[in-house]
Amino acid sequence: MNIADLHIHSFFSDGDLSPADIVEESISKNISYISITDHDNLTGYKKANSIIKKSKYNQIKLIPGIELSSSINDSSVHLLAYFFDPENKDLNSVLKILQLRRTEFAKFALEKLNEEDVNISWGDIVKNSKGSIGRLHIAYALINLGYVRNTNDAFETYLHKIKSLYKNPYEISANELIEVIRKAGGVCSLAHPHTVSNFDKSISGLSENGLVGLEIIEDKKIKDCEEIMSKFGLTKTAGSDFHRNGKKSYLGKNFLNEEELLNFYNISRNKLNGEISWNM
Ligand SMILES: [Zn+2]
Ligand SMILES: [Zn+2]
Repeated sequence: MNIADLHIHSFFSDGDLSPADIVEESISKNISYISITDHDNLTGYKKANSIIKKSKYNQIKLIPGIELSSSINDSSVHLLAYFFDPENKDLNSVLKILQLRRTEFAKFALEKLNEEDVNISWGDIVKNSKGSIGRLHIAYALINLGYVRNTNDAFETYLHKIKSLYKNPYEISANELIEVIRKAGGVCSLAHPHTVSNFDKSISGLSENGLVGLEIIEDKKIKDCEEIMSKFGLTKTAGSDFHRNGKKSYLGKNFLNEEELLNFYNISRNKLNGEISWNM
């Protein structure tokens, strides 16, 4: 069976593996379609794309993808975008703003940690990041410096609190992002819906503004998801949200079969009146 894993992170956001490792491991697991959906940046996608082209791999197809940080009605949401043109100018300008937001947040966190007498520097944080800087990279720095034992500890002791204090001046609404992706020839799906607070209100707002998919995670299915999908005309997307190998985390853990992928693609193409940027 041909399967598609549409939610994968590389070490260009908060994953452990390089794009090359992800491509090779996916091929060895017979995954036919992958999407590297790093947070707010396309570096992992671009590297994987050139690896696949250079090596002339024909057993795997890479779908342009990204996971965008955003919010709707003051609830934070992650949008998974697919099939867009990665070179689109407006999209790339928006990604620069989202990157700036990540750097600004990390600087804010550094300031707060220093205020709490944590002796941590900017260099300690950035040396853990190859692309999109995030809370995980701050957590790694706190572990390396001996302030916490593990990442859970880092989030519980410091990072959740710091995040709640941060007011983001660079917020781009989910509806604006859906529009940017649409103009770049792509569509959006709502990532890990079980983590969205205010779900009912959020999903209706996003659907009105062109959301196409809802990510379905088999062991974390939200209540009434079939009804919700049919009510708002949404289609299923799926992926492992892979960051690193572990007992419960591996490539291909959640997936679309080929028929489901084709269905998602055709619905997306229709929504875009044929102006989809990627060809199946
Ligand atoms: Zn996410
Ligand atoms: Zn993710």
